Amino acid sequence: MGELGGFKKYQRKQEINTAVKDRIQNFKEFTSPLPTEEQQKQGSRCMDCGIPFCHSGCPLGNLIPDFNDRVHRGEWKKALEILHSTNNFPEFTGRLCPAPCEKACVLGIIDEPVSIENIEKYIVEKGFEKGWIKPKLPSYRSGKTVAVVGSGPAGLAAAQQLNRAGHIVTVFEREDKIGGLLRYGIPNFKLEKEIIDRRIAILEAEGIVFKTNANIGVNVSVDKLKEFDAVVLCGGATQARSLPIPGIDAKGVHQAMDFLTKQTKALFDTSLEKEIINAKGKNVIVIGGGDTGSDCIGTSNRHGAKSVTNFEIMPKPPKVRSEKTPWPFWPLQLKTSSSHEEGCDRNWLINTKEFIKNEKGKLTGLKTVEVEWKIIPGQRPQLIEKEGSEKTWPCDLVFLALGFTGPEKTLPEQLGLKLDRRTNIQADTFTYETNVPGIFTAGDMRRGQSLIVWAISEGRQAAHHVDAYLMGSSSLPLKDTNDLLSA
Ligand SMILES: Cc1cc2nc3c(=O)[nH]c(=O)nc-3n(C[C@H](O)[C@H](O)[C@H](O)COP(=O)(O)OP(=O)(O)OC[C@H]3O[C@@H](n4cnc5c(N)ncnc54)[C@H](O)[C@@H]3O)c2cc1C
Ligand code: SF4
Repeated sequence: MGELGGFKKYQRKQEINTAVKDRIQNFKEFTSPLPTEEQQKQGSRCMDCGIPFCHSGCPLGNLIPDFNDRVHRGEWKKALEILHSTNNFPEFTGRLCPAPCEKACVLGIIDEPVSIENIEKYIVEKGFEKGWIKPKLPSYRSGKTVAVVGSGPAGLAAAQQLNRAGHIVTVFEREDKIGGLLRYGIPNFKLEKEIIDRRIAILEAEGIVFKTNANIGVNVSVDKLKEFDAVVLCGGATQARSLPIPGIDAKGVHQAMDFLTKQTKALFDTSLEKEIINAKGKNVIVIGGGDTGSDCIGTSNRHGAKSVTNFEIMPKPPKVRSEKTPWPFWPLQLKTSSSHEEGCDRNWLINTKEFIKNEKGKLTGLKTVEVEWKIIPGQRPQLIEKEGSEKTWPCDLVFLALGFTGPEKTLPEQLGLKLDRRTNIQADTFTYETNVPGIFTAGDMRRGQSLIVWAISEGRQAAHHVDAYLMGSSSLPLKDTNDLLSA
């Protein structure tokens, strides 16, 4: 272990965000790293706990105290090896993960937890900067072929693991570029797309074949999949929830993903700029308080919206951990993202009743009512409207960020796949195999809209079982997920 008691000497420090007024002028990432010496001090804050709860908090089982120690010693290359042994893409999680590991960190009981996510990002960025991250080709080829459908983090992790096991892997993606929600869902200011491109270049050099504009079940027949020895479906959970209330057809009401995707595409193809849903000078309301809603707020502010208001139907979470989610569990706690900090009026316990439109069908306002949740033991919580609390909010644009109801159904229908009760693709909880032998599924398509870290974890787990299905056994790593603390 590095410096004993580093946590007593050094306070938690994280990379610095550019000032709001400057960062909302463009769609670039806006953080500056700490000096290397400071990064190493942050590594030394780790206590190398006898029982490292951070492991259980991380869906990938990252070997956190081991890489913290190496960082502290300045052994960055070794730290990278340790990090890569459990996480194929730390450059995504190091930027975007809500870091359940930090919520489970033992130091968090008495002090600020170790800045694990930032350390992860520093390690992988140093790896790219120094040229340590190189394609690793398998030492032999098995002769078996695998099709991966969908190129989000789950599909990419599955593809890399299966390629490492020597199989010939083809990834089919319906979009024009690889990356799934990392590419066209998550805005550039959270993840610049060059970060994806440099990783894809490595995967291609390792021998993975990528086919874009290939929508399986639509412009490529599902019969194509029969040419492969195994299939891994990683198509995500992209079916957006709507709000079936009067006025939903008003001009100015949009699904959040429509707004976000068009904006990101236009950054890379100026001919698409006219397609953007422009929030400049508009009064914007974002309905939904999750990551997608937060990204709409950040994007609206970058457009120069006149006002940005956010509604959430749930109560405002407490600023500190609630008693129901004590350490080391994932806390119910108020989350203030960098986009929230950039400016928005946040409102909780608000239900939307009607979109108001003028004679031309254009949105002019939104009717809401305040609500409360009545808890009756043994029953589902009931939503009660507060009498006399109706209000009309003038607005020009509304973005619906209400979550996702599961994967699109074309593919499962055509392949004869069963769905679970949440309408995700049903698969064995251990092997990830669907009801059709040889067809596996991972990521959001199996678990519903979730997190990048879970998608990578599922892609890795599925790869192990696909390899075992093809070869009888597998030496690809498998994580024991029974000890997980995070949802
Ligand atoms: C706006 C937004 C912001 C988010 N922010 C965060 C965040 O900050 N941190 C975090 O951890 N998570 C975040 N998430 C969640 C995270 O992005 C997802 O959990 C993750 O991307 C899921 O990965 P996946 O590989 O399972 O699916 P996806 O990333 O959804 O990828 C699925 C891919 O499959 C393709 N596909 C689907 N059907 C077919 C077909 N028939 N043929 C070919 N291709 C097909 C799709 O085009 C897509 O590219 C966010 C989600 C959204 C919507
Ligand atoms: S729980 Fe925190 S302090 Fe303990 S080993 Fe993990 S990162 Fe280090």
